[in-house]
Amino acid sequence: MPLPLGHAAIGLAAYETVQNSDLRRSRWRTFAFVSLLANLPDVDVILGLLLQGNGNLFHRGPTHSLFFALLAGYIASHLWRLGERIPRLGFPLCFGLIFSHVLADMMFTAASVSLLWPFQLYFSPGFSGWGRVVHAVLFQSIQDVGIIAACGLYIGLLRVARGVCKGQRVPVLISRRRP
Ligand SMILES: [Zn+2]
Repeated sequence: MPLPLGHAAIGLAAYETVQNSDLRRSRWRTFAFVSLLANLPDVDVILGLLLQGNGNLFHRGPTHSLFFALLAGYIASHLWRLGERIPRLGFPLCFGLIFSHVLADMMFTAASVSLLWPFQLYFSPGFSGWGRVVHAVLFQSIQDVGIIAACGLYIGLLRVARGVCKGQRVPVLISRRRP
């Protein structure tokens, strides 16, 4: 399954696709914010661990749905109002970053997600305690190396294409809103 690094890589690739700015020149806060949104649905693992010591308790439930991506994307796109340190990203991008996680889970794993919650609900079976979750995050991220490499290659090619085409906008779908 894609782990935090894999999801972050997919999120960063999605960010570079729609943003006209280059992450190398962006502030680290944007980098962190994008990575956070791309991993947000897995907040259900933390919730399960805190409440019952079982990361699978709520995993792949409501937070892995279209509805959650829409709602959390909307909220995330307005968080900048709380302080100027919070990056200002538009709703389509925030939604896309969160939904990229759900799509990646659907594409790269056999286990179901609750895509159409509240009309559909799945939870990961079995038990996954603190030790297993921490071990997976720390030591199993290596299995995401293919995803990370593909995203890195894609970002590199995108930058080259934009450099070659200069004035022409190579797939920049959404302009960055500036405060
Ligand atoms: Zn997930």
